[in-house]
Amino acid sequence: MALDPSRTVAELRELRELTADEDGAQRVAWTDTWVRAKDWLSAKVAELGVEEETDEAGNQWFSLRGGESDRALLVGGHIDSVPNGGWLDGALNVVAGLEVLRRLAEEGRPTLTVRLVNWADEEGARFGRSLFGSSAAAGSMNDQDELRTRKDAGGEALPDVLARHGVDLDRALDARRQLENAAAYLELHIEQGPVLESLDLPLGVVLGTFGVERHQVTFRGQAAHAGSTPMDKRRDALAGAAKLELEIREIAKRTGKGAVCTIGGVVTRPGIVTSVVETAECLLDQRHLDATQLAEMLSNAEAASRRFAQEEMVDVEWERIWAIEPILFDERLIELADEAVTEVAGTSHRLPSGPLHDAAEISRAGVPTVMLFVQSLRGLSHTKLEDTKPEHLELSVQALDRLASKALAELGS
Ligand SMILES: [Zn+2]
Repeated sequence: MALDPSRTVAELRELRELTADEDGAQRVAWTDTWVRAKDWLSAKVAELGVEEETDEAGNQWFSLRGGESDRALLVGGHIDSVPNGGWLDGALNVVAGLEVLRRLAEEGRPTLTVRLVNWADEEGARFGRSLFGSSAAAGSMNDQDELRTRKDAGGEALPDVLARHGVDLDRALDARRQLENAAAYLELHIEQGPVLESLDLPLGVVLGTFGVERHQVTFRGQAAHAGSTPMDKRRDALAGAAKLELEIREIAKRTGKGAVCTIGGVVTRPGIVTSVVETAECLLDQRHLDATQLAEMLSNAEAASRRFAQEEMVDVEWERIWAIEPILFDERLIELADEAVTEVAGTSHRLPSGPLHDAAEISRAGVPTVMLFVQSLRGLSHTKLEDTKPEHLELSVQALDRLASKALAELGS
């Protein structure tokens, strides 16, 4: 039997049937519904006669042993979802990977070992910690002390919930051994954005994930009576914030190449209608695929904020909340992915990823990595409205399969 991409679409619908309600997918990690999804996957893979194991971080591995080498080609995704999530985010990669594994198992022993991985808790929906399983396997998880104190909305502690799923936080990093023989990592994902749809393309090749600079920018002026303070005597913190909000759009536009800047929130104090704003705290998020350009966007925004502070006779202060460097995927695998996409869709397009993915962790750990994107309708994700045309889903399975074959041929030689 050859590859059957329509089976992937049917199985994704089956999984939706099993794990969604009228509000969307409910496969939140470390819940019964998540376990039901994992058991469903196990039962599917059991028919292929491949080995299954769950590692110390709760990642689920299915290995088809290779004939000639211990090295392994990894294909991965995450079956967990956000609450009221979409049917495809994460699950597509896992179910498409299952179909590729099926095709390879039927052909006998591949040259390299091929492993399908279902990463545990990519979304971090219950405890606010994304990329749990992949960061443990990558060895980059270093917040165990902080995680020990995390509780979910119901007040349950993370270590207790993990223990019920056989995961001991102190041993999660032992999952690192899973990457010891990894020769390459492939991940297919829905785009979760509008770019491919706007270009009328089904598939794209991902160059890497954006670097992120996240800051709190606080403007400080003077609270003063809204009636008695003339306009030219005001030290209005919100005026500085408002100018910065408009300027970051220009900074992103000038930088180009996918640059994005967002002020996602502004809190003003005292925040009453009868007073000039004394403090305005802005949450600024800047992203770019190129580290130098990202650093430049940041310094441009800082310089602009100081200029605006001076114009408005207020002070400004910057505090970094979080940052991550851009992660660039493997050049050779990007070429192979381009070939695979061109073969099945006629034309390929390279684009960066705004969201982080498990692939970023694995790439950071030094495993050559690439991702494929398939078009998302209306760019929507993390909602039950998330969707992709069935014919595009089928093309994505074909592209992943071709990419796996190309990677096996290249790595095996
Ligand atoms: Zn995802």
